[in-house]
Amino acid sequence: MTTLMETYARLPVTFSHGEGVHLYDEQGNKYLDALTGLAVTGLGHAHPGVTAAIAAQAGRLLHTSNLYQIDAQQRLADRLVALSGMERAFFCNSGAEANEAAIKIARLYGHNKEPEVKVPHIIVVENSFHGRTMGTLTATGSRKVQAGFEPLLAGFVRAPYDDVTAIETIAANNDDVVAILLEPVQGESGIVVPKAGYLAALRRICDDHGWLLMLDEVQSGNGRTGQYFAYQHENILPDVVTTAKGLGNGIPIGVCLARGIAATTFKPGNHGSTFGGNPFACATALAVLEAIEQNGLVERAGELGDRMLNRFRKALDGDNRVVEIRGKGLMLGIELAQPCTELVKKALAAGLLINVTHERVIRLLPPLVLTDAQADEIVDRVCAHIRELDGAE
Ligand code: PLP
Repeated sequence: MTTLMETYARLPVTFSHGEGVHLYDEQGNKYLDALTGLAVTGLGHAHPGVTAAIAAQAGRLLHTSNLYQIDAQQRLADRLVALSGMERAFFCNSGAEANEAAIKIARLYGHNKEPEVKVPHIIVVENSFHGRTMGTLTATGSRKVQAGFEPLLAGFVRAPYDDVTAIETIAANNDDVVAILLEPVQGESGIVVPKAGYLAALRRICDDHGWLLMLDEVQSGNGRTGQYFAYQHENILPDVVTTAKGLGNGIPIGVCLARGIAATTFKPGNHGSTFGGNPFACATALAVLEAIEQNGLVERAGELGDRMLNRFRKALDGDNRVVEIRGKGLMLGIELAQPCTELVKKALAAGLLINVTHERVIRLLPPLVLTDAQADEIVDRVCAHIRELDGAE
């Protein structure tokens, strides 16, 4: 009888430690980590610079609360504002919390409007994933995530992803919309990359209607796609951007960044978090940013992603088990014609950590610190596993 609630279908392995791109289990077996704990440990495991910053901060100060000034929080906000083109930051502890902050900003923005939008609506899209709190699971476009937790929140309207006309139709018919919330690259639903120009079109619609463009970069942020934030591929600025996962390389931290009116919507008492932006998490994130910058890892993620995408396309060309190979930087998805969840266990047994999402999409979120040889090794090993599946070439 387990004493843990049954929220996860865990794989039968316990890791004892990690080093760089590898993890080791309790029996001493070595695993190549092509998943980074779901886009978290982008710098790899036990990164020396981050470890040193964690140890130094742990020995100095962990927590004081937001009743006081926090120097590391201020310095981290300055860095993230400069990186994102936003103006202000609110720190929290996870991706869902960062999105909750965005949802609350949108609602308050609507109520503050003249005339007031009494029931502010946020447009969200199909197959999105924004988290597991009541607000973020309502925003999430998956019945599996929502089922059993009704009543869901009011004030959300859903549109298909990567469909500008659908958003224009809502704009023409719904005066209560105040914001759009979406992922620039959808992660959980199988690495779905929208057509070029999609975000720019949404930016224009938001400007025309006075809506906030709010991007969830919890998974796609922190350099993973080859820009610090994925929207930077399209040269647009959102009004709100959220991120978490890779920001702390494993130490829990999330942030909601905003500019313009969205940056000044919250007033004292509107929002808060006991742990959010504590000295320990912020000092860690500062060390993560320094390592990303010093090693040119944003650009490197783009190069590695292209290399892996090309190698996959070459190796799997004409293989009728494969429906599509897609990605942006180090968010990579290989959609197969058949369910392939069994591949996760097979790869694990062979010492490779991968993920399958939506039953048929192999999802890879490898570390930004891969060597070329390690990137090639991941591709070759994943291709070998695909070829072991039934189905003619
Ligand atoms: N948003 C996106 C795009 C995500 O991928 C995730 C997690 O997978 C979340 C939000 C939720 O983040 P967290 O699990 O840190 O609450």
